[in-house]
Amino acid sequence: MRYALITGGSRGIGRAICIALAEVGYSIIINYMSNEAAAMETKKCIEEKGGSAELLPFDVSDGEAVDQAVLSWTEKHPDDYIAILVNNAGIRLDTMMIFMQDEQWNNVINTNLYGFFYITRRLLKDMLTKRFGRIINVVSLSGIKGLPGQTNYSAAKAAVIGATKALAQEVGVRKVTVNAVAPGFITSDMTKDLDENTLKSMIPVGRFGKPEEVAAVVEFLASEKAAYITGEVISINGGLYT
Ligand code: NAP
Repeated sequence: MRYALITGGSRGIGRAICIALAEVGYSIIINYMSNEAAAMETKKCIEEKGGSAELLPFDVSDGEAVDQAVLSWTEKHPDDYIAILVNNAGIRLDTMMIFMQDEQWNNVINTNLYGFFYITRRLLKDMLTKRFGRIINVVSLSGIKGLPGQTNYSAAKAAVIGATKALAQEVGVRKVTVNAVAPGFITSDMTKDLDENTLKSMIPVGRFGKPEEVAAVVEFLASEKAAYITGEVISINGGLYT
């Protein structure tokens, strides 16, 4: 049994990733922050299709909470390790920089960037020892080209892209790959305040993407077939210029 931990697996893109990885046989560890009902719904979707899943709530931006959660999982699964880590949990708190408060800057950096760091460093050791691991970071078009009103979010996602490339070079020799997927506009709670009708005219494919379209790429990157791809950032954005 191979275990896959998906942070922010309760809703949106994270839920679609949980379901896709369960369908190809991984046992899924669903992380979330506070929405237990949504996380239970993800678990139910997986189990209805014959898959296996468990919940592991923690705040990715709280280093101690991350360590505690990993410790409690390891105590329950002494003979197993988490081979696949999808760093998907994320938030956006948009405002022009001239109006940006410390809290908006810090919360976005802490969740999107420190969240990646705290959990990744804890799971790396077993991946390196077992000589197999997949780390897939969900970044954003915003971290590649920068988007106005998102200096906090663009900075955090761009930082994770840099870390993806650096870490890939540290761990490749041990058959651990590290990649990123960069969605454009994807239908989810995160984008429900955006006006799709206006924005879709900018997108060559003419619509927002679906969470399942991101999950399909993550599923491939997690597979054995993707063993020779590392340090890459794959855009999933319907042709939006990056
Ligand atoms: P979403 O629907 O808002 O879901 C966010 C998920 O992250 C939820 O599961 C939430 O848990 C979890 N989460 C938030 N803060 C957390 C924390 N501190 N600790 C643990 N979990 C936390 O978002 P989404 O649209 O699916 O986005 C998923 C990822 O894709 C994010 O990294 C986002 O930046 C990125 N992305 C999204 C888009 C898009 O258009 N949607 C585009 C580019 C990139 P709860 O349910 O408990 O709140």
